[in-house]
Amino acid sequence: MKIPNEELVGRIIKQKLKKKGVVRSQEELGNIVEEELKEIDSSFQISPERTRRIALNVQRVDVTVETRKSEVDRPSKCPVCEENLKGLYAKNLDGERTQVGFRCDNCGYHGDVEEFMPMRYEFQLIKD
Ligand SMILES: [Zn+2]
Repeated sequence: MKIPNEELVGRIIKQKLKKKGVVRSQEELGNIVEEELKEIDSSFQISPERTRRIALNVQRVDVTVETRKSEVDRPSKCPVCEENLKGLYAKNLDGERTQVGFRCDNCGYHGDVEEFMPMRYEFQLIKD
């Protein structure tokens, strides 16, 4: 098994998104990228999760996250890229400051206090 480097994976991600337009899940992106890698060297392997993490750092690749409700505790670190999260606050009707959500400045992930679990990712190339 061989681990492809980020530069190569990033290039393939771009190429694939250019061809396909939108890719609607992390698994699909992982699969099509791995397929292409195996054309180059059949011992290359990559997980959908690593593919997604690399996609976050590729210029002009836009990653959006759909979230769902969850009973687990709110994350203190970004569930997408593991950076620290910033709280988003608003005043409620009694004029008290209350947390309504959180966002990540690193990757653009955001969630509200009830719906924050990443459920589905979408990837697309931003046009020039
Ligand atoms: Zn993040």
